[in-house]
Amino acid sequence: MHSGHLLVASDIVKKFGGLTALDGATIAVPLNSFVILAGPNGSGKTTLLNVISGIYQPDRGKVIFEGRDITYTKPYIRAQLGIARTFQTPRVAYKMSVLDNVIFGYVSKDAPLDFRWKARERELVKRAFEVLKLVKLDHMWDRPASQLSGGQLKLLEIARALMANSKLILMDEPGAGLNPTLAHELFQFMRDLSRRGFSLLVVEHRLDIAADYGDYMYVLYNGRVLAEGEPAEVLSNPQVIQAFML
Ligand code: ADP
Repeated sequence: MHSGHLLVASDIVKKFGGLTALDGATIAVPLNSFVILAGPNGSGKTTLLNVISGIYQPDRGKVIFEGRDITYTKPYIRAQLGIARTFQTPRVAYKMSVLDNVIFGYVSKDAPLDFRWKARERELVKRAFEVLKLVKLDHMWDRPASQLSGGQLKLLEIARALMANSKLILMDEPGAGLNPTLAHELFQFMRDLSRRGFSLLVVEHRLDIAADYGDYMYVLYNGRVLAEGEPAEVLSNPQVIQAFML
């Protein structure tokens, strides 16, 4: 039923002691799409991202990426397969330059002890510049990351994911802490990325803004999918409205 999807996480159950964080959730990410994962606090969104990136293994269910079962695959292997994760607080090296953050984010993940990488340095620098151009940070290449604004740091994290040739980018609340103008710009950029061969699965609370750009939305509630579909439609669903009010 989910054939042709880049990622399918089906019937996922994840328990923490007596607490059931995910209770049979199923979501799918099509190729070239921007999918929003919404839901009230504690509904299981972050846990689901962690099950997909491999930080947690589920108690039941399967994670399928490009047709391959990765339910029990280690996180670094998933990263090599093309799944990247960004965090609410960007995990960049603040003293390093913007360019080095992009290059070393890639090198350390791809081949930490590969002595040949020196020989590839030129090629890597060239690619890093291409990626920085894409996120419009190329003019900042030699600045320390500490000089970037909050929105630019999020773009830098995305640049690292792009440098690593990721196919699926998992993001935890990229809109948090951005003013509405920057949030619109970031979501527009993410939509553009999804039209350039990348897929995004994004946990987001700024639904009023994100809904304009997402292709599809899932709403989790108590660890299950309460509603899914085209974002505007999902957000006008009375059950969804009630879930967010409780
Ligand atoms: P959301 O991201 O939607 O706010 P979470 O996935 O963070 O929800 O949490 C879902 C539920 O699982 C919550 O009740 C939370 O307290 C619980 N939970 C999440 N991670 C852990 C953990 N590592 N240990 C125990 N309980 C957890």
